[in-house]
Amino acid sequence: MNWSEGVMGKRRAVISQEGTASNSQKKEKRKKRTRKNRYRYGLVSFRELPEYMKDNEYILGYYRANWPLKKALFSVFRWHNETINIWTHLMGFVLFVGLTMANFMQVPQVADLFDMFTRSFPVAAATNASHESKDFFSGTTLIDLEKTSPLEKATTLSETMVTRWPFFVFLSGAMFCLLSSSTCHLFCCHSHHLNLLLLRIDYVGIAVMIVTSFFPPIYYIFQCDPHWQFIYLGGITALGIFTVITLLSPSLSTAAFRSSRALLFFSMGFSGIVPAVHALVLNWGEPRCLKTLAYESAMAVSYAIGTIFYVSRIPERWKPGWFDLAGHSHQIFHVFVMMGALAHYGAALVFIEWRNTVGCGGIM
Ligand SMILES: [Zn+2]
Repeated sequence: MNWSEGVMGKRRAVISQEGTASNSQKKEKRKKRTRKNRYRYGLVSFRELPEYMKDNEYILGYYRANWPLKKALFSVFRWHNETINIWTHLMGFVLFVGLTMANFMQVPQVADLFDMFTRSFPVAAATNASHESKDFFSGTTLIDLEKTSPLEKATTLSETMVTRWPFFVFLSGAMFCLLSSSTCHLFCCHSHHLNLLLLRIDYVGIAVMIVTSFFPPIYYIFQCDPHWQFIYLGGITALGIFTVITLLSPSLSTAAFRSSRALLFFSMGFSGIVPAVHALVLNWGEPRCLKTLAYESAMAVSYAIGTIFYVSRIPERWKPGWFDLAGHSHQIFHVFVMMGALAHYGAALVFIEWRNTVGCGGIM
């Protein structure tokens, strides 16, 4: 080994020592960062929360506070005090997407379109060429019955069934409400700005759900009296717009206005009593009347019980800290909202079936 080789060897040893040192330093830094993140993004207690997140003083722990969006997104798979709030409405959203798809496939034009893709294209195109897209939601047809085959006649008759767009308006409203609610619960821990924005979207979602819920019953009950359709649907839409504008003021998003918000939503829902009594007077004696009344009463009771839990914050006020993760009032409220929406879905199916059978020729 000559002099230069010796120097090079020493230099290599120094470099490798430096390399090992810097590697271990990096590892140490990474460990520290992980420990710091774990500390920074751990769950905190009510007292440690920033002021804008202090909503329910009876839920004492398991809060996320000022988490980055990515952390908040993946917290959907972690246990904290919003986990059940997120999942109750997320599963509800998925359920309503499934119900919408199932009902959409029953719209004759959609079923035909589906048929067209499942059969060979040229044949399907020939048999479906007469279906016009403008009839999609109207439930009427322009096909001349004399010129159609028996198979097409059967399809054509099914197309004279009652229009379903009011039903899809309700399904869309329910999906919007459930999705905005679970999004709000998932990301409201990110920042004050996003918290305010998501809370407002959540309230708009509730108002949209209430307004769109009026569409199937009012539309089908008063299908033969369009002026009543206009009065009731116009009235509830105006009330919904007023509620949304009122709720968009930031002060009304705070905990202090919990009861006022509930009162606004309750009055919107309660205004349904007017067309309901009107419909009962018009259609008393029709067997389906009792069935829809049972469904709609179940919906009203579900929403009312849910609202009582939302406002009273029972059971956590009785045992603060006991229901932080599971069983607190907001989770119970979510479950009752789902039950109410499903009861209303059941009622809407009865209204459609009734109008399909009776048309405009008879009473309900
Ligand atoms: Zn909620």
